Amino acid sequence: MSVPSGVGGAPSKPVLRVEGLGKRYGSRHALRDVSFAVQAGELVAVIGPNGAGKTTLLSILAGVQPPSAGTVNRAAGEIGWVPQRPALYSKLSVVENLRLFARLEKVSDPEAVLGRMLDQTGLADRADERVDRLSGGNRQRVNVALGLLADPPVIVLDEPSSSLDPGQRERLWLFIGELAARGTSVVFSTHIVGEAERYAQRVVVLDEGNLLFAGSPEELARAGDGDGDFEQAFVSFLRKRESAYPEGTT
Ligand code: ATP
Repeated sequence: MSVPSGVGGAPSKPVLRVEGLGKRYGSRHALRDVSFAVQAGELVAVIGPNGAGKTTLLSILAGVQPPSAGTVNRAAGEIGWVPQRPALYSKLSVVENLRLFARLEKVSDPEAVLGRMLDQTGLADRADERVDRLSGGNRQRVNVALGLLADPPVIVLDEPSSSLDPGQRERLWLFIGELAARGTSVVFSTHIVGEAERYAQRVVVLDEGNLLFAGSPEELARAGDGDGDFEQAFVSFLRKRESAYPEGTT
């Protein structure tokens, strides 16, 4: 999937700019001096080993917790949030969930927003179905819909495909790609690095809170030795960095 960043591929003003972001939990640095920018309609993957700081980064963008240092150029209310474990009411229908969250978020015209959500997510024919009867893929669409309630220019998704089977994953990425093609910028984390290669225009690599790389999947593949295999190139990239900067020296 290829979605141009900026009209005609021309560089444009970033929709999201993160500068010098840091987060400490006591003496532990979960994030250190992380900076990157996201263009309109761009799909950006955040990848890295367990504990790298992915969820910390995304939750700061979403305003769930404050950073210890650095800035984000947008208020949290302008960034849609799709957490790993969303708080859907399983016994309520799709439309009842959307209506409830629209009211909680105090959107100005909830019924109009519901119509837009159902259209955007392709869930109109499931509107009255109870959430606990939906497939994992459709439930994840409802989660994404909640992140889109305020019609934000940027949406942030924490491992959106982790509980889905391969078919559901493919459909979810098609849907997210359509959002991006309409201009919404998408930042997502994933452990399935093939998704970063396939669907992202840009990849941000974190390890132990440090930003090791921000560039295209092709550039990341070239920075590692994968012999054509992206996942292998990613692992080899991390190993090279580890031997160049042993733990505790960055
Ligand atoms: P995973 O891939 O396992 O989900 P991650 O890349 O999302 O990991 P984070 O969950 O952001 O990583 O965690 C980054 C670091 O911060 C880890 O060392 C983690 O133990 C630590 N951490 C995260 N949240 C807290 C917290 N509330 N209190 C203390 N330490 C925390």
